[in-house]
Amino acid sequence: MPDLYADIALNLAVDQTFTYQVPEGLRGEVVPGRRVRAPFRGRAVDGYCVGLSDATELDRVLDIEGVLDDGPLISAEMLELTRWIADYYCCSWGQALEAALPGGVRRAIRHRMQTVVRPAVEPDRVADEVEALEDRSPKQAHALHVLSTLEHTATLQELAGLADCSTATIRALAKKGLVVLGREEVDDDPLLSVEPSESETVAPELEPAQDSALRRILGLHRRGGGGVVLVHGVTGSGKTEVYLQAIDRVVADGGGAIVLVPEISLTPQTVRRFRARFEHIAVLHSNLTEGRRREQWHAIQSGEVQVVVGARSAIFAPMPNLGLIVVDEEDGTSFKQDQAPRYHARDVAVVRGHKAGAVVVLGSATPALESYRNARQGKYELARLPGRVQGRPMPKVELVDMRKQSFVPGGSRFLSQRLLGLIANRLSRDEQSIVFLNRRGFSTYVFCTRCGWALKCSHCDVSMTYHRRADRAMCHHCGLRARVPARCPDCKSDAVKSIGLGTEKLEAELARQLPDVPIGRMDSDTVRGRGAHQRVLDAFGSGRFKVLVGTQMVAKGLDFPNVTLVGVVNADTALHLPDFRAGERTHQLVSQVAGRTGRGPKGGLVVVQTWQPEHYTMQTAAGHDYAGFAKTELEHRRQLGFPPFSRAARIVIDGEVPGEVKQAAYDIAGAIKEQSGPTGGVLHGPMPCPIERIKNRHRHHILLLGGKSGVIRAMIAAGRPAFPAGRRMRVAVDIDPVSML
Ligand code: ADP
Ligand code: ZN
Ligand code: ZN
Repeated sequence: MPDLYADIALNLAVDQTFTYQVPEGLRGEVVPGRRVRAPFRGRAVDGYCVGLSDATELDRVLDIEGVLDDGPLISAEMLELTRWIADYYCCSWGQALEAALPGGVRRAIRHRMQTVVRPAVEPDRVADEVEALEDRSPKQAHALHVLSTLEHTATLQELAGLADCSTATIRALAKKGLVVLGREEVDDDPLLSVEPSESETVAPELEPAQDSALRRILGLHRRGGGGVVLVHGVTGSGKTEVYLQAIDRVVADGGGAIVLVPEISLTPQTVRRFRARFEHIAVLHSNLTEGRRREQWHAIQSGEVQVVVGARSAIFAPMPNLGLIVVDEEDGTSFKQDQAPRYHARDVAVVRGHKAGAVVVLGSATPALESYRNARQGKYELARLPGRVQGRPMPKVELVDMRKQSFVPGGSRFLSQRLLGLIANRLSRDEQSIVFLNRRGFSTYVFCTRCGWALKCSHCDVSMTYHRRADRAMCHHCGLRARVPARCPDCKSDAVKSIGLGTEKLEAELARQLPDVPIGRMDSDTVRGRGAHQRVLDAFGSGRFKVLVGTQMVAKGLDFPNVTLVGVVNADTALHLPDFRAGERTHQLVSQVAGRTGRGPKGGLVVVQTWQPEHYTMQTAAGHDYAGFAKTELEHRRQLGFPPFSRAARIVIDGEVPGEVKQAAYDIAGAIKEQSGPTGGVLHGPMPCPIERIKNRHRHHILLLGGKSGVIRAMIAAGRPAFPAGRRMRVAVDIDPVSML
């Protein structure tokens, strides 16, 4: 009897697939890639058929209960890719499949009607209601507060995401009459309605370096069989133009392309350039409504779409005839997913391209050292774009030594006279400035000057950040909000002070120093929800704001020719993080922020305020010297045996009881050491994570280093029997981790 048994991958953290019998009525319906319902431990769960067979050695198999959807949603290509992800990233096949299929497609929403949430209290009473809720229902208080800051209608799911709570929390608010839920059709996606200008539709003639990069890409494309090209080009060197023309060729040959960009670079500006050149594009980002996502997914699958532009998960877009994958700003950490499956979209892109015979283009001004080394070793082709297009100069970068700043009465402790003077100078010429600081909120540390007590999150081992507009201290890890006590809870003195600089204080400080200058701020507090991002950008683009203060969000992708000055405040904060990539991140960040200026004919200047101007990350960033940076940094990594000279994995164990967590970590480390003596792998730890507690869970970690990924996987396999069973503790295996906190 053919195809009597089906192998089913369940979306559970279990390392195997399960065999079920296909009942008569479902024969021919249960095919690889089809979602099914099957009994598991007494209940029905969703799973994916990953294979069929005529026979089984098992004595007793249960029947599949039913099939889902109108047909299989997972192609043979996706089955193979997700299998690879499960093996490589040490997760279950079911988890990998679940990640590859967007929620809107799985849940099969048939129309764009959504449950929306609106406040039911007058705006001037919101603060009181939030306060009344704060003690007994802090999550509800936070959700209500977040809702009140939104300028548009939020869907239930969207608000839950923004407020980091469950939909039940919001429904509880509805029961109390503080919000109302309704069914509505949701606005169109603002990213899809951008209209390009006439000039953007015409492809410029490429410069020689661009042309040679394009020829490398198309050479691989014509040869067939895939291949990877690293396009290493400074900001403004015309990388995007190279992608556009490469895609054009691939599309003309009947192929499709996927372009991955970091989520925060997925701005209307970026989308417009693709829209201008291609008739059928799809944009996939995390703010899409589920209905939209489903629509786009089906449009892609049907072959209507030529180019998919999207963030991390767009790497799973069901593009038939895939000819090209572009990963722009391939060094961006947002390409790494921070929950299982902990995949890196750049690395998945390389594997998908290889399996599909599609060319993969990685682009960056500051390539990840892993990619750079692969290119140097000849595993990837390297195309260099050494200068900006049309001979435009790189902005001059000036390091301001903050140790040498003397405080002038009425002056600023955070902003150097040099930077302030230059901003004023730009204002007088009606040009614009961007001031970057990688920290949101008002002050970053609240403490007692008498006894040293500090305001820490009661759930996490971190200081809370004071947000002035909300007049609350917030934990940036778990979202907890708390009042700043007027008196010190320990010594009862009234000596509670707050220090440290966040973007909110920076904005206030600039306003004090530059009275009557319209200043905008862009960070995740000011741009919540769909469309808000665009409103701030429009205001800056139209010149309504003269100065824009912001976090990461202003570091990437913005292209305003009138911006002739960029200031970087506290440039060295990231240098002190206990992470072997701290230097790389700092160099990347300063280089990226510098790229936001000098994009027009007026040129640009960058002022970097630092306490360590002599540090090689600062020196090389100031000199636009990536190669110099890479040389020093690679030498450090080689000495320490860190990636790219090894493969790394991190095992994080967390739980509510510190002693149990520590014991489990030692047990796992012991099991690994016992087995993996001769493999050449190195184990560091166990040790408490740099952030020892998050959301009331204590954390220990183990770092594994090995020459090959097979060594790492063997070590993890050796440790797995010691992973604690039950739900009290969790173990996360993170292959190629990008964060060590
Ligand atoms: P990158 O992606 O490296 O930052 P872009 O492709 O965005 O660079 O190019 C920077 C600017 O130069 C854009 O405004 C783009 O339209 C323009 N540009 C790119 N290539 C050319 C070219 N060959 N001739 C004229 N302008 C170009
Ligand atoms: Zn005190
Ligand atoms: Zn917290």
